[in-house]
Amino acid sequence: MSIKQSLTQVQQRIDDAKRRYGRESDHVTLLAVSKTRSAEELQQAVQAGQHCFGENYLQEALDKIEALQQHALEWHFIGPIQSNKTRAIAESFQWVHSVDRLKIAQRLSEQRPPHLPPLNICLQVNVDNETSKSGCSLEALPELVAQVVTLPNLHLRGLMAIPQAQTEFEQQRHSFRRLRVVMRELQQQGYQLDTLSMGMSGDLEAAIAEGATIVRIGTDIFGSRKYSNTSEEK
Ligand SMILES: *Cc1c(COP(=O)(O)O)cnc(C)c1O
Repeated sequence: MSIKQSLTQVQQRIDDAKRRYGRESDHVTLLAVSKTRSAEELQQAVQAGQHCFGENYLQEALDKIEALQQHALEWHFIGPIQSNKTRAIAESFQWVHSVDRLKIAQRLSEQRPPHLPPLNICLQVNVDNETSKSGCSLEALPELVAQVVTLPNLHLRGLMAIPQAQTEFEQQRHSFRRLRVVMRELQQQGYQLDTLSMGMSGDLEAAIAEGATIVRIGTDIFGSRKYSNTSEEK
């Protein structure tokens, strides 16, 4: 199947899930996760109308941002962030979904170039409390939110999670629901949050059922990933 056909199919799944779960009037953004994909593959997605791309590895992302700069695309950084990478991220991306500690948020704010609008931020939450995963704990989240909203060059938009992989629909929903509930609590405390970044190829329907506003899809658009050992940070 071509990238164009896969995109159409994924968009159809999103539309079906919105209808099934009563979310017809909500906007759900399809973020094409393009880590390890070539600029040529992204170009095919752009030609099929795709506008938002998610990248995990800084150097390969910067190469693609430059190669595709004539298209004015929207770039989202979704991978783990080391502090020596924050400047380039703050300079080249419109969104960052993987902020999970104050130090990284402070650096992104300080290093955001003044001529650019505030950087859109989602805080990554370790919803299933997995020891091996990045993400802020549910317990630490309220304090992190309170600190991040004070940073001048960031715009805190919402929360992101990568739950434990589950094949059962109800179990998938369970983790996503936890993120939805904490977001609602934060909104009730007065924080103006509008984004739930959750759902990947295997669980986008469950994420939409629980209120996702951005789904991050790689495999079901571009096919399965073949990692080479030439990319950084593997
Ligand atoms: C790779 C990745 C995705 C996409 O996952 P697929 O299962 O390929 O759709 C989504 N989110 C993050 C943070 C990722 O690293």
